[in-house]
Amino acid sequence: MATVGSVTRQIAALEISGSNPPRPAAPTSSIARPNHTKHASQPSVAKLLTKFAAPNLNSNQSSLENLPPPPSRKEKDAAPPALDIGRYDGGLEIENKERGESVSGDAATELALDSSLSQTYPTQEWSLHSFDMGRPLGKGKFGRVYMVRTKTAPNYILALKTLYKCELVKNKVEKQTRREIEIQQNLRHPNIIRLFGFFHDETRIFLMVEFAGKGELYKQLSKHGCFTEKRSSRYIDQMADALIYLHGKHVIHRDIKPENLLVGINGELKIGDFGWSVHAPGLRRMTMCGTLDYLPPEMVEGKEHNEKVDHWALGVLTYEFMIGAPPFEDRSSVKNTYRRIARVDLKFPPNLSADAKDVISKLLQYDPQKRLALTDLLRHPWLVKYRPQGTVRESIA
Ligand code: ATP
Ligand code: MG
Repeated sequence: MATVGSVTRQIAALEISGSNPPRPAAPTSSIARPNHTKHASQPSVAKLLTKFAAPNLNSNQSSLENLPPPPSRKEKDAAPPALDIGRYDGGLEIENKERGESVSGDAATELALDSSLSQTYPTQEWSLHSFDMGRPLGKGKFGRVYMVRTKTAPNYILALKTLYKCELVKNKVEKQTRREIEIQQNLRHPNIIRLFGFFHDETRIFLMVEFAGKGELYKQLSKHGCFTEKRSSRYIDQMADALIYLHGKHVIHRDIKPENLLVGINGELKIGDFGWSVHAPGLRRMTMCGTLDYLPPEMVEGKEHNEKVDHWALGVLTYEFMIGAPPFEDRSSVKNTYRRIARVDLKFPPNLSADAKDVISKLLQYDPQKRLALTDLLRHPWLVKYRPQGTVRESIA
């Protein structure tokens, strides 16, 4: 049987680490994949993680207490060693000394976020003492992210994300953060990172989120340069399904791009960031936001916009997956990028299939109302052709 150490090393090799590298230029050649050797005697990390990572269920239960029971003693005896969460580096305490200024007044009230007090889905009470701390997973703008395990059975593995209250206040994003947390707490979809609970102390907010075993999609895109049509189609299929779910709940994402997507241990895509989301029943927004390359014409031109901005961004994402760079990128100036977006100056390289071009051009329509409906996208031959057998897409069933 494999040692816990060997499992740890396999996890460490999953490449989940620090902040994003700079965006690469369009690839000129494909990058070779390193040769991995598979040792037959080692337990599969994917299997272990599938067993121990807190599951993202499609039900309304929000407390980890209500999740399926831990394995029976018989199962435990037969099971490989529990998944090692790596070594904690003491970073939270060190960081809290440097960044942890306490806040007061209205901001303190706004940021006193605790899922056990939630009116919609109250959870059990959580605190830092509820977890065994593991290795650092990365650094976000407002604090570090750690791999952790709940001390109580069934000892689920999670990612614990820290947000420094004083920095949220300095950046004037208290309300936005509260809104992001409220939105994410109500979402249950296999391709959306689940928020299981949250709590706070004097200086920080802690978010207990679903652990994405294969880390950032952006890193994989940088490593490979671009993805095959099959892989791209499967990702877009999952994105379309997640966006249909979000739009059905009147949530517009507004910031779809590879940097905001994570990958689960079985290779599934997970929308991970809700910083720009708007819960907008019937509202049309006029704010400028999002990342330049993924902005639709109506936002570039400062017009009102609606959920169709996400259809446009999905078109940009489809293009970037297969070409390795977004379609309207102009490195010479921001103004030129804006101009190319407003003119829908779309050019395809010769090697793209007709079906892939059809999907991209139907999503990248100047008029938001003309953009391909997401249910029609799910029925498009380019998605149907590569969809694994047995996948059920309820919205078109
Ligand atoms: P930024 O704006 O820099 O993206 P952020 O505040 O949005 O910052 P995150 O992106 O959520 O922070 O987290 C920082 C890093 O931690 C990510 O880039 C990723 O490597 C890792 N990470 C975050 N959430 C998870 C997760 N659920 N599972 C695994 N790794 C994660
Ligand atoms: Mg992020």
